[in-house]
Amino acid sequence: MSQDSPRSLAEIASYHAHVYFDGEIERRRAEWLRLRIAERFRVRLGNWHDRQVGPHDQAMYQVSFATGIFGALVPWLMLNHGGLSILIHPNTSNPKRDHLVDPIWIGRPLAVHGEVLPDDHEAEEALEPNTEPTLPA
Ligand code: ZN
Repeated sequence: MSQDSPRSLAEIASYHAHVYFDGEIERRRAEWLRLRIAERFRVRLGNWHDRQVGPHDQAMYQVSFATGIFGALVPWLMLNHGGLSILIHPNTSNPKRDHLVDPIWIGRPLAVHGEVLPDDHEAEEALEPNTEPTLPA
C-alpha cells in the first residue's frame, strides 16, 4: 500500500450517513435529528427502516449527500447526534470496503455485516435531494 499511489478523492461519488436507533427513545431522537437535517441541508432522506436491512445491525434511515456537503453536514452531526450511532461512508466502486474499512463513526460504532455487500459495483452518485432547507447549519 505505502508504495502505491494514494487513492484519489475522485473515487468518491457521494456519501451516505446511516442514522441508527434502537427502541422508542432513540427513535424519537432520530425523528428530531431527521427534521433538523431537513431544515438545514440539501440531502436525500431515505425511508425509515424499522427492521435491520442489508449490512446494518440496527434500525436506521439513510441520508445520501453530495461530496460538497460533507464539510458542513458531518461536523453538524458530530455536535447534534444526541447519542445516536451514525455511520458515514464514501460511495466508491467497492461498497464492501466503503462500509467495512473506510467509514467513520459518530457516536458508538456498531457491527456492520459487510459480507452481504459486493466488492465491485458502480459508484452511487448522490441521490436527488428531497429536502428544502431554510435554516443555516
Ligand atoms: Zn450506505
